[in-house]
Amino acid sequence: MTDQEIEEKIKEFFEENHEMLAMEGGHALTADSKEYALNQVLYYFRKLKDVASKVTSTEVKLTLPDQKTPKGREFTIEGVVDIVKEEGETWMYDIKTHDPDYIRGNMDFYEKQLNVYAHIWQELRGNPLDHTAVISTAYPVTLRNALNTGNLSAIERELAAWQPLIPIPFKQQNVKETITDFGRVVDQIEGKEFEPPKLKVLKEPIPGTKSLFATRVCRNCDARFSCSSYREYVLSTGGRSASHFKKYLNQIADDVEQEEFINANLQASPPPESIPEIAE
Ligand code: SF4
Repeated sequence: MTDQEIEEKIKEFFEENHEMLAMEGGHALTADSKEYALNQVLYYFRKLKDVASKVTSTEVKLTLPDQKTPKGREFTIEGVVDIVKEEGETWMYDIKTHDPDYIRGNMDFYEKQLNVYAHIWQELRGNPLDHTAVISTAYPVTLRNALNTGNLSAIERELAAWQPLIPIPFKQQNVKETITDFGRVVDQIEGKEFEPPKLKVLKEPIPGTKSLFATRVCRNCDARFSCSSYREYVLSTGGRSASHFKKYLNQIADDVEQEEFINANLQASPPPESIPEIAE
């Protein structure tokens, strides 16, 4: 298959997936968002086609059952990775939707996860492993900015500089500690301890980025309208008037975006003949 044929196939699969998700979830993307998403997939393929063409096993499910939390609850760790075997070496890739800067700024976290997957793959399944890496599917901020401006030379420069593949060496000695960390989180969830982070955390930049936790994480969080820390953050950033608060509540989209969203979703709704009659 030529690259062009592969890209045509990607477009076809993308359309099918979008249609299926829209029908299943009742939400469709606006035309702009859809084009943006498709372009991201195509750029991602062009950048990583060498790795994609060598993948030996895709979506390999790794499971570590029968673990115990510090409070004695049982839990299982599961992960999904891709494996590439090439020239006598085995690579394990963990695909993440965060951008590369975020991943580089939070290497500890990703290293811990990969260590557990490497442990399952090597020690429990007896498979060879030489390298582990994270693949970031999101654009770096600089590339996103260049795409938004439409400046072709800037786009080309940023595409060349984009490094979605981030090698992270694995260390088996930290595995036990990481499993205990997972167990603590399980205990917190099961114990219904859902305390949001303190205001101080919301006002701090996320390591590896210039964005604050509040702008990068909270503004994409569905729970923000009922979150005490986010409310505190909003009130601490200016006046306490209703109009000030409304600004944050309205940060979902502007009028044009909202209209496009409604139109796209009307198109995604089931045809009227498939809606059952309501009995009188
Ligand atoms: S808004 Fe969401 S992400 Fe932000 S602190 Fe609250 S719960 Fe956490």
